[in-house]
Order: sequence, then C-alpha cells, then structure tokens
Amino acid sequence: MSQYVKDLMAEVKAKNPAQPEFHQAVEEVAESLSLVLERHPEYRTARILERMIEPERVIMFRVAWVDDQGEVQINRGYRIQMNSAIGPYKGGLRFHPSVTLGILKFLAFEQVFKNSLTTLPMGGSKGGSDFDPKGKSDLKIMRFCQAFMSELFRHVGPDTDVPAGDIGVGGREIGYLFGQYKRLRNEFTGVLTGKGLNWGGSLVRPEATGYGCVYFASEMLSTRGQTLEGKKCLVSGSGNVAQYTVEKILELGGKVLTLSDSNGCIYDEAGIDKEKLAYIMELKNVRRGRIEDYAGKYKSAVYKPVDPKLEFNPLWDHKADCAFPCATQNEINEKDAANLLKNGVYCVTEGANMPTTLDGVRQFIDARILYGPGKAANAGGVAVSGLEMSQNSLRLSWTRDEVDARLRMIMKSIHKTCVEVSERFSTPGNYVNGANIGGFLKVADAMMDQGVV
Ligand code: NDP
Repeated sequence: MSQYVKDLMAEVKAKNPAQPEFHQAVEEVAESLSLVLERHPEYRTARILERMIEPERVIMFRVAWVDDQGEVQINRGYRIQMNSAIGPYKGGLRFHPSVTLGILKFLAFEQVFKNSLTTLPMGGSKGGSDFDPKGKSDLKIMRFCQAFMSELFRHVGPDTDVPAGDIGVGGREIGYLFGQYKRLRNEFTGVLTGKGLNWGGSLVRPEATGYGCVYFASEMLSTRGQTLEGKKCLVSGSGNVAQYTVEKILELGGKVLTLSDSNGCIYDEAGIDKEKLAYIMELKNVRRGRIEDYAGKYKSAVYKPVDPKLEFNPLWDHKADCAFPCATQNEINEKDAANLLKNGVYCVTEGANMPTTLDGVRQFIDARILYGPGKAANAGGVAVSGLEMSQNSLRLSWTRDEVDARLRMIMKSIHKTCVEVSERFSTPGNYVNGANIGGFLKVADAMMDQGVV
C-alpha cells in the first residue's frame, strides 16, 4: 500500500468511524487509483478522490407509520447523494434490517464508478431503510412505502435524483413509492425506475442485472476462447439478480448447481433447470417462501442451514468452473475465496455489490483468474434504468429485443473499457483496476471542468 493510500485511509477511518464497509470500498478504489494519481498529479492537486469520498449530501430521516394492528412503528430512512458530476443522482433503495449509514455510503460510492462505466449520464446515490419487508403483509409494505416517500419526495425528482430497487425493494415497493410521489407532487414523471410496464417501466429492467452479469462473464470467458456452454456454475442468493442470472446461464448452456437465501443454501447435483427455476420464482416472488422448501420438493438437492460457527459458506465449497455471487456484500471471505480456487473455479462474476472481502479479492487477482468486480459486472441493472429514463423522456417504449441489444452492447463496452484501462495503467486482465480507473476518469474530468464545488 502506498503512503498516499495509507494516509488517505487513516483520514477516512478517523472521519467516518464504525463504517467498515465504506472503508473497504474506498480502500479498494484508492489502491487502484494510486497508479493514476502518480501519472496525473493534477487530480491530486484538485483533491478529486478526497472530494469523491465525501458525499455531496446525506439525508437521514424518521419514518413513522402505523401498522395494520394499529401500532406505531418507527424506522430510519436515508438517501446518500454521493456525486452529480456527470448527471442526476441515480441509485437503488435497500430495505433490510442491516441497513446503516456506512452500508449505504459504500453502496453510493460504488454506484458513482458503476454509473460512469455504463457510458450513460448518471451520477451516483443510494438510499433505503432498516425496515424489514420479510413476512410483512402487502398493507404494511404499502403503509411503510408511503411514509418513506412522504419525506423522500422533497429530495428526488427526474432531473435531480432517480431511485430504483435493490435488496427488499422490487416491483411492488416501487409501485407504492411511485403512487405516493405522484400524489404528493401531482405529477406523472419518471422519478423512479423499475416501474410497472403499463405505467412507464422498461422491458428487460427486471432481468437486466442478472442478464448483464452473465453477458459480462461471457465477455471475460471469450478472452480465453471459451463460452458458458457446459460450465458448472455456483450462484448465491435467490432474489431478483440471482433468478435472472440463472435464467441467462441456462439459456447459454451452463449448469447451475446452487442457490441460497439468508437462512441457508441448496446444492442440486442434477442442476437447476428451467422448470426448477420457475418453481423458485413462484416460491420467492409470489409465496415469498424460503429456499429450504426447494430441497423438500426436489430430492436431488441438499439444504444446509446457515451455521454461525462455520468460518466459510458451504455454497462456495463445490467443484465448479464459474461463480456468481448474487446475494449481498462480503459473502465471499478469505476462506471462501480459497475454497473456490481449490475447487477449480476460474471465473467469478459479481452480481451483488462488493460480495468479496479485500482478502478474497487479492487471492483472485494473485491467481489471475477471470474476476469481474460488481461495479462492472452488475452495471446492467442501472444501465437499463438509464434506458428507462430515456424512454420516459421520449415518451416511447422500446421493444424487448431493442433494450436487450442495448444492454448487451453496454456490457460489452464496459468489458472493453476494463480491459483497455487495465492494459494502460496496470496488469492486463486486472478487471478491478480496469473498473475503478475506467469509472474514475470520466467523473474526475467532469469535476475538473466544473471547478471546486
Ligand atoms: P433481492 O432482495 O431480490 O434478493 C436478495 C437475495 O440475497 C435474497 O435471496 C436474500 O435472501 C439474500 N440475502 C440478502 N441479504 C443476505 C444476507 N445478509 N445473507 C445471506 N443472504 C442474503 O435483492 P437483489 O437480487 O436485487 O440484490 C442482490 C444483490 O445485487 C445486492 O448486493 C444488490 O445490491 C445487488 N444489485 C442489485 C441490483 C438490482 O437491479 N436489483 C443492481 C445491482 C446490484 P432473503 O430472501 O432471505 O433475504
């Protein structure tokens, strides 16, 4: 670690105590950027990275609401408006009990680089609440979403900040949030993305993060003259990103062996085929059940509940070629990364945001496997959100094939940027440096042009 990164991290930690995920995200980026900052001292003089680390605005608010038993509930809401140098703020909302200021700051920071990589004009933000939607009635979810938007509406808008979904925020929640925004503002505008198809949504938006992630994996494999055909794949999670990652892997001829949720994971040696995926989609999106039920239905599958005493996740301890972490941050630790490498995995493509710890990332880079970090590999979701914004502005709807073709093109272009930038500034094939530096340059140049603000 260079002295510059050491000093920067000491300052970040002192100024932002108890935000380990934010420190982790900044450290990874700072390590990559030290290569650029040496060659471009003008960025150091203008303190571009130091400015990017400081959110432009943090909004934190009370969300008080009455549940369907008539009891008063209180949650905490947030919106982190991180950087607007290249466009209006854009980033998802996460509803999960683990949400804290530090988690959202790490996500907002990553989003700035990711949005820049898409080539679309979008700044970076993130928000959410410690509200837990799991097991709650539709009425409770609606009441919470309305209370949340009753404050958030002051801070967002189609030319200011355009939220979308993330963990715990899917089509249902976006609908309730949009309804409340429309009521309060008396306007029908594209203030959120991930909307329903008949009220401004885009085709392929639900599929976009998962599909994009698999397109990115295909691009990485193609650098070694390979495809996904016949490859054994480990996928984690079973929500939006995981489901469409599985769908696209199957379409491209891969075999999917695993899935998980926050209670445990399944390993199906016969493979999760299209019919089994349809069962999972119904289980998770309609019945809102647990992944354990899968092993009850399909005898070829084994379920393992989360064991807090285990130092590794058994999902990553199977022989395979490719891994797609699609659940949450830090789900691949040092031991998991070692297990993946030991089991022959040579292509890791991140559907989730920052699913690998820094120790794990270093192992993947040292082993020179194909490792696609989340800010590049999962950018398909926000890219199609950007396309949804364009369609809303044009008051047009593009066809499924048109949106999918644009998504493919964007993922190809992100891959190309990562490869070219890694060749220019670091080791060819280091997608971490490629993504961090590629995302940084566009934002940094815009900030230089716009003066010290
Ligand atoms: P969903 O809420 O649809 O699904 C999340 C999945 O991950 C669920 O299976 C959930 O299990 C599991 N999960 C969540 N938290 C944990 C945890 N602490 N431990 C183990 N499993 C957990 O969210 P998405 O699929 O939308 O998001 C998944 C990841 O992808 C996140 O990192 C998100 O930031 C990232 N992402 C999402 C995008 C999108 O377009 N939706 C875009 C880019 C990135 P359970 O049901 O038990 O909670």
